[in-house]
Amino acid sequence: MLKETISFNRALTKNSTLYTKQVYYFSMEFLIGKLLRYYLVNMGVEELVREGLAELHIDLDDLLEQEADPGLGNGGLGRLAACFLDSMAFGGIAGHGNGIRYRYGLFEQKIRNGFQTEVADNWLKNDYPWEIRRAEKSIVVKFKGHVRTEVVKGKLVFYHEQYEPVLAVPYDIPVISYDNPLNINNLRLWSAEPLSNELDLASFNRGDFDQAVSLRSGVEAISYILYPDDSSRSGKELRLKQEYFFVAAGLGSIMKSVKKRNLFLAEFPRWVSIHINDTHPVLCIPELMRILIDEEGLGWDQAWNITVNSISFTNHTIMPEALEKWPVTLFKNILPRIFMIIEEIDRRFKERSARRFFDDRKIIQNTQIIKDNHIQMANLAVIGSSSVNGVASLHTKILKQQVFKDYYRMFSYKFNNKTNGVNHRRFLLTANPVLSDLITEAIGPTWKKNAEELENLLIYQEDAAFLEKAAKAKYHNKMQLLQYIKKTQGIELDCFSMFDVQVKRIHAYKRQLLNILKIMHLFNQVQEDPNSVLGSQTFIFGGKAAPGYHYAKTIIKLINTLAEKIHKEPRVRDKLEVVFIENFNVSLGELIYPAADVSEQISTASKEASGTGNMKFMMNGAITIGTLDGANIEIKEAVGENNLFIFGLSADEVLRYSSEGGYKSLDLYYDNQDLRRCVDQLVNGFFATAGEEFKVIFDSLLLYNDDYFVLRDFADYLEVYKQLQSAYSDRKRWTGMSLVNIAKSGVFSSDRTIREYADQIWKTSFRPIDFNLQDKP
Ligand SMILES: *Cc1c(COP(=O)(O)O)cnc(C)c1O
Repeated sequence: MLKETISFNRALTKNSTLYTKQVYYFSMEFLIGKLLRYYLVNMGVEELVREGLAELHIDLDDLLEQEADPGLGNGGLGRLAACFLDSMAFGGIAGHGNGIRYRYGLFEQKIRNGFQTEVADNWLKNDYPWEIRRAEKSIVVKFKGHVRTEVVKGKLVFYHEQYEPVLAVPYDIPVISYDNPLNINNLRLWSAEPLSNELDLASFNRGDFDQAVSLRSGVEAISYILYPDDSSRSGKELRLKQEYFFVAAGLGSIMKSVKKRNLFLAEFPRWVSIHINDTHPVLCIPELMRILIDEEGLGWDQAWNITVNSISFTNHTIMPEALEKWPVTLFKNILPRIFMIIEEIDRRFKERSARRFFDDRKIIQNTQIIKDNHIQMANLAVIGSSSVNGVASLHTKILKQQVFKDYYRMFSYKFNNKTNGVNHRRFLLTANPVLSDLITEAIGPTWKKNAEELENLLIYQEDAAFLEKAAKAKYHNKMQLLQYIKKTQGIELDCFSMFDVQVKRIHAYKRQLLNILKIMHLFNQVQEDPNSVLGSQTFIFGGKAAPGYHYAKTIIKLINTLAEKIHKEPRVRDKLEVVFIENFNVSLGELIYPAADVSEQISTASKEASGTGNMKFMMNGAITIGTLDGANIEIKEAVGENNLFIFGLSADEVLRYSSEGGYKSLDLYYDNQDLRRCVDQLVNGFFATAGEEFKVIFDSLLLYNDDYFVLRDFADYLEVYKQLQSAYSDRKRWTGMSLVNIAKSGVFSSDRTIREYADQIWKTSFRPIDFNLQDKP
């Protein structure tokens, strides 16, 4: 029923938006989370359905448990794409997602003997109820083969021959907007299938059974599994095929709809915006050129104008290991015609730069697309799009001044900032119902549609009764998390201890290690004098490590080893507990973010482009302890310096160390006894059960000079942490700080972010429809 209603309304939406601009959000990842509850909340029928089911003796919560959480993304980038889909639908934008329907999503993490192990994420095992296969809208995508060039009527014509065809079959998932059942958008995910479902009979009859099977599985491999690397590139042939696959399929289907609407190609940018989420979909640029030139017969210059004016690009990282590059030989073999187009874009670009910067060989070298026999995908993205944005103000500043400094000289007008946001209807309204009801009681319901109204909560800053109710909501959420931990791990935790939480991908730059060293230091203190540590604390970790990232996996083992050691010391256990929650994903996030007292956002300054976990915590009243990195800076501006805890090197200081040197981690190790003790404990038998396994961590800090400045920030972190502990022990102060964080979090709703994309980049209007809010409680 629900599904039919959705399809019907979707059909209505399509007709009514035929002549509005369509925005296509191309992303390799969409980490959408479970959808049933989201649909019910957005349609305003959650309570109705809950009551109806209760009459049938079905508990809605039990039902919600059954749904799979599709892991079609690694972390922040994929989750951002999902939040954007919601806000686009809410804002009445005809905005659609375009991605890959991975047969297996991000692995499921199991902790065995303290180590991460990976289990395949078989999310389609029981079929997925929300997708609709649209075989009739399939697109043929062409790989490999040769390009034959011919002159026809004085014009060069290109024929792509002997290619290997792959059928891209779309599966559509409806995106329902909040409180506006008539605007339903679409998330289109592509699955790779052989062109014909018949066996390759020729091979089979020749007796070449392996060949017959391998052709089929070679094709299906394209959408078989999500690459599990966050913030690093994989450089594998299959990954490149995935990237071209969903780009070519997506653009193919856009062209079909443009044809159906009888639009003039010259007006394409007026009717279509194509947004590329990081460089993974950057082949949109040469692919659109190919379609316009080879299939539509346009000349180069006209095709180029259309392409650049339709495409906009978001950069997500400044870490060099994440900037995508492809070896020319590999690329040429897989995508021969696309390679020719990239070469031509590069040639023309260099020619133009040479005219403008004839005396500056360096700028020409730095900005070319093909360099050292590699295609630099970020360079292609900047040259071939009309807008380049970073995801927090510091990040955008670093893009302008460092990563893309030469491009910034050439096209300063392209660069802009769009600070990330999160869907406050998922991460506050739905994930934290007790607090949400309290908020609605206090300031009315319209904050759900306009998150900036949360600011009206500030009048309760001194209202002891209200603050107590908010504290009760936090207590409730902590109980829920605690019960989950009890059920899954058998560990009983103290609900009155402070919940200090770090959940995110495990990565050296995110510095889970710094947090661990802090806990080790507290452990040492408690052992010496239990009264020297104020209050009692529960440290909660969660997050996946890329399967090939040995260092990150060792960090997980270290957390679990420390947890075990602390748990075995009764004297310490009253003060400190550590837990690692296995398989952190969107659903667990919805349980964890609302239960946190403290939000750990402690990346090495300059390395975290924005972060979005920081925003989810803040909205739920957790207090941030963090560095001046990514959107932490904007959180600080929003709440003021008295309502969060900042420590550590600034981005400028980190970047200066990186360019000029001068950092010696060994000096700090020798100067700071407390620090030395903790670092030594990694290898000196303190962890009785560990052999040599933590040596890699020890070496990263001393032998390899601590790339992420963990030792440099240690003392400052502890100092500020002490202030945080003392603030927590002052209940009135803490609950007041918490309220300010909630009240000021509205600016971090993805509604605000999408409004900015719509106004400034896509040039389409963001207009939530408001026709029945008065009827709502
Ligand atoms: C929000 C979110 C992230 C991003 O967290 P950061 O703290 O910004 O790195 C990662 N994974 C999941 C499941 C999330 O919901």
